[in-house]
Amino acid sequence: MQLYSIETGYFKLDGGAMFGVVPKSLWNRTNPADENNLCTWAMRCLLIQTEDRLILVDNGIGDKQDDKFLRHYYLHGEDTLEKSLAKHGFGKDDITDVFLTHLHFDHCGGSVVWNRDRTGYEMNFKNATYWSNERHWQWATVPNRREQASFLKENILPIQESGQLKFIGDEGNWIPGIDILFANGHTDAQMIPKIQYKNKTIVFMADLLPSVGHFPLPFVMGYDTRPLLTLDEKGKFLNEAAANDYILMFQHDSVNECCSVVNTDKGVRADRVLKLSDL
Ligand SMILES: [Zn+2]
Repeated sequence: MQLYSIETGYFKLDGGAMFGVVPKSLWNRTNPADENNLCTWAMRCLLIQTEDRLILVDNGIGDKQDDKFLRHYYLHGEDTLEKSLAKHGFGKDDITDVFLTHLHFDHCGGSVVWNRDRTGYEMNFKNATYWSNERHWQWATVPNRREQASFLKENILPIQESGQLKFIGDEGNWIPGIDILFANGHTDAQMIPKIQYKNKTIVFMADLLPSVGHFPLPFVMGYDTRPLLTLDEKGKFLNEAAANDYILMFQHDSVNECCSVVNTDKGVRADRVLKLSDL
């Protein structure tokens, strides 16, 4: 198996919204805000190459939203999904599986693209099976009013219409070497992949732990639908990570790609910062 980090560019979100009840004087140390109180976040994806599959975990914001929508997110940086795949010698048609941690637009927007004459949509990965789970699909397609701005129909419905959608059943083993952890605090039934790689367990944290700045347990995003549950899920997960020497990979941390963890008297914290390519 080989793992590659796939950078798809950066965006900005309100620092306060990203840290919930935590005061700016605390979060601003790890995630400095600009003059509009916005912080820069990565939309980093993960590519997993196995003997017979090429699995892309999430795919960024995509390029079909209009300027009115994108104006709020200040996309920047040179990286794109296509360029990052090409850097490792792959193209979109090589992808056999697209694994969607959840269906918020910053995670699944690259799933679907405009067709050539912009009259409708087509699948960005035409040879891939797209993976979600039934509970999250239901949650996203009949969205609550809190999350409906994050679940964009055009990112989601065409996947089902294409016939390329499959659901993962339960928590636990998905394919050899990859286990799935379900987390319900950020949104219902978010899927966190745990991958056995070079004698380590690599965990793609998605929105369970978006950045190194989110290690302290009360540092929970304001976007989370069930913040107390996130606190609980994060606490349990971090203890497991420290006990088993996991490497965490961050989707939204604009500086740190991965880190090991360590138990401290304040709780589990980031230890050594590293890149997948260092392993
Ligand atoms: Zn996110």
